[in-house]
Amino acid sequence: MRRCTRTACNRPAIATLTYVYADSTAVLGPLATYAEPHCYDLCTVHVERLTAPRGWEVVRLAPDPEDLGPTSDDLEALADAVREAARPRDVPVGQDVLRAEHGRRGHLRVLPPLEDPVDA
Ligand SMILES: [Zn+2]
Repeated sequence: MRRCTRTACNRPAIATLTYVYADSTAVLGPLATYAEPHCYDLCTVHVERLTAPRGWEVVRLAPDPEDLGPTSDDLEALADAVREAARPRDVPVGQDVLRAEHGRRGHLRVLPPLEDPVDA
């Protein structure tokens, strides 16, 4: 049986919390089949007490009692869905970061490459 991952808590876990860092979203879903990094199993008490860090959004999914075999793939697909829904435009995460970097450096000019000293 899986246990709650909160410090000093020994209750059985009933849900898994996944962080989608790119979108500042925490997804609380059914207990994942496998424990993974960035996933935290929580008990009923800590699920109820869960609060998102400042600026973060928590998406809560009611566990489906009919479905006793959630897989990590389900959770991953869910995280992907949230990621897609939260994205205002169709740009991969990596490019988003590059674009933000570029914007901050917008005041800098790109200089032409230096001449080859051999030909000078
Ligand atoms: Zn707990």
